[in-house]
Amino acid sequence: MRNSLYVIGLGITLVSCGSQNNSKKVAATPKPVAKIQPTSPTTPVVKPPVKQEEADFFKVNIADITKNDNTISYGSIVAAKPNNYKVVKTYFPAVAQNFRQRYVILHYTALDNDKSVSVLTQQSVSAHYLVNSYDDNEIYLLVDENKRAYHAGVSNWRNDQNLNDISIGIEIVNGGWAADATGTKSFPGFPEEQVKKVASLVKDIATRYNIPPTNILAHSDIAPTRKQDPGPMFPWKKLYDEYQVGMWYDDATKATFLATTTQEDFLAQYNTPQFIYKIQTALNKFGYKLDNTTAWDKQTKQTIEAFQYHFRPEKSDGILDMETWAILQALMQKYPSK
Ligand SMILES: [Zn+2]
Repeated sequence: MRNSLYVIGLGITLVSCGSQNNSKKVAATPKPVAKIQPTSPTTPVVKPPVKQEEADFFKVNIADITKNDNTISYGSIVAAKPNNYKVVKTYFPAVAQNFRQRYVILHYTALDNDKSVSVLTQQSVSAHYLVNSYDDNEIYLLVDENKRAYHAGVSNWRNDQNLNDISIGIEIVNGGWAADATGTKSFPGFPEEQVKKVASLVKDIATRYNIPPTNILAHSDIAPTRKQDPGPMFPWKKLYDEYQVGMWYDDATKATFLATTTQEDFLAQYNTPQFIYKIQTALNKFGYKLDNTTAWDKQTKQTIEAFQYHFRPEKSDGILDMETWAILQALMQKYPSK
């Protein structure tokens, strides 16, 4: 029965519009051929057999990375239930679709466990997940992954903006930075058990939505002039090494770039507009939003600081040294933007 011929309303409309002239000719023929019925539904549609239960249908039938189709999901389907009609999910999944969840953004709460829960559930900020700092096995879901949480604010990465629309936000309970008398920031670390929770969670999300490494980011990456979280103590390299999550550079490539210049030459060009423009352009091309001002201005320093929080945590003072520059170039080579 599944292979029987059916007719759909849309087909009728298209065919009757597209064959109007032919229809007139047919109508003028004294004895029309019985099979030609211009005023009747004429476009049969073959319904394919249903291969799977509905819950697994999208996962099994349209998850195909070769089509750039990031529909590897747990099969959850949200669909209408209109009165008197049946929405059929199983026949015609379109190839042209992907998930709205295209980024994972990590944050710290700068609050303790109780206050983090209270603020993220009762106020005008939220995240999909909250990772507490307890040595337990729980991660809190605050917002359904299919819904939007309010965690990113004004934000940009590569060609995307307003990342709340297209991301999963993860808040990590952590005290956040404190500044000493000289204004130097210090950041508290993340307990090992908490890092494991975050890593496992990010890996799960990235796998299900096929989120690329370039889209697993810190809040500071997507809002470098406003945000510092989750800060330089968050172990991005560990996530990369042990969970294959996110971006990290190759040491050999970094060494190659380091070898292309000497400290003397590096410093000689350091304050020239041409060099600053080159750095700003590189940061921008890699993903950070900033203006090409050809000056070491505040936004540039903040952007370099954000970059260092993520990729050069040993020195996150916002000043571009040779190593930071080599790391940026190594990353650009490994993760080119389209
Ligand atoms: Zn944040």
